[in-house]
Amino acid sequence: MIPCSRQAISDEEINAVVDVLRSDFLTQGQRVTDFERALANHCDVAHAVAVCNGTAALHLACRVLGLTAGDALWTSPITFVASATCASFCGAAVDFVDIHPQTRNIDIDKLEQKLIQAREQRRLPKVLVAVHFAGLSCDMAAIARLAREFQFAVIEDAAHAIGGRYLQQPIGSCRYSDMTVFSFHPVKNITAGEGGAITCRDETVAEQLRQLRHHGLVRDAAQWQYAPDGPSYYEQQQLGYNYRITDIQAAIATVQLQKLPAFVAERQRQVQVYNQAFADLPVRLPHSDADTAWHLYVIELPSCEVRHALFDYLAEQGIGSNIHYRPVYRQPYFREQGFAEGYCPKAERYAECTLSLPLFVGLTAADQQRVITAVCEFLQREGAV
Ligand SMILES: *Cc1c(COP(=O)(O)O)cnc(C)c1O
Repeated sequence: MIPCSRQAISDEEINAVVDVLRSDFLTQGQRVTDFERALANHCDVAHAVAVCNGTAALHLACRVLGLTAGDALWTSPITFVASATCASFCGAAVDFVDIHPQTRNIDIDKLEQKLIQAREQRRLPKVLVAVHFAGLSCDMAAIARLAREFQFAVIEDAAHAIGGRYLQQPIGSCRYSDMTVFSFHPVKNITAGEGGAITCRDETVAEQLRQLRHHGLVRDAAQWQYAPDGPSYYEQQQLGYNYRITDIQAAIATVQLQKLPAFVAERQRQVQVYNQAFADLPVRLPHSDADTAWHLYVIELPSCEVRHALFDYLAEQGIGSNIHYRPVYRQPYFREQGFAEGYCPKAERYAECTLSLPLFVGLTAADQQRVITAVCEFLQREGAV
């Protein structure tokens, strides 16, 4: 079976884990700080705060921005549910802006129109989660311009995009956003088993993130509100969580981060091989962008029926494929909040006709050729070519 995605782990990660297991600290040790420094350097940004997963990272980012009941967060419908549920965790409402069919990212014109309407109705969002779908960066300069005009904060959901660049800057530099969020789940470009991180430029924001990931505890005496009644004193000043990452995970992530440039190059190479092989097929290929650390390779088929049949055909051939994603608002949890079919027509059309093909470090040339042959043969058999 050729999976749609999988992690690439070698002896270096295994040895790094063993070293941690033989050391004094399994959590809250030096490995986490080392990883945070390496990630901040990679992103050319002042601060990185590592947490237990990408969803926790999104939740903390929303908390630091003060998102709460009565507020709204907007995001793309074509994303993993966590880009939206982070608002629900805070009691805030979620709304969705349709995608652009070419980039599959939030459509900037639609965003602007919706903002103008929302301003008239006095229900502007407090936060926009800009998802870099499949790794392709959103038009962050345009988003930053709208953020200034309409006074909302911007979180980049870069769960797909680590290792990519936007206007010469690494994704995560936060040049055009308040914070950037990463995930290190095994299907992502680099993994820690489970893991996540937030990058930001503001020291106060970073300090808030560190506090919230650790129960809201304050250990710095200068920040205490009360005089300590004895030794081992600390204060919990706000509602926080246990969102810490372990040193075991941080050790894996540190090795993976060193390999990231090579991983990205390999993903980009595989995307080129697919693009060339499919150039003459009646399928829409991903937007071409040399700076993208492709996380997914998504093709759009002529119809929903063809897509379903291709999924089945590939499965028969032992090839895994996947749908990334159905519109988040079509999930029962969000349907209950009043989102109906047709709310974002481009996203729905996209979700009906697209399929993600295997793309991962470790996919052999022979296996990729098997995928290509299967797709081409299927489309010929269907009479689509
Ligand atoms: C994976 C993912 C997340 C959540 O990350 P976890 O580490 O799995 O919690 C959030 N947003 C997007 C776009 C993702 O792909």
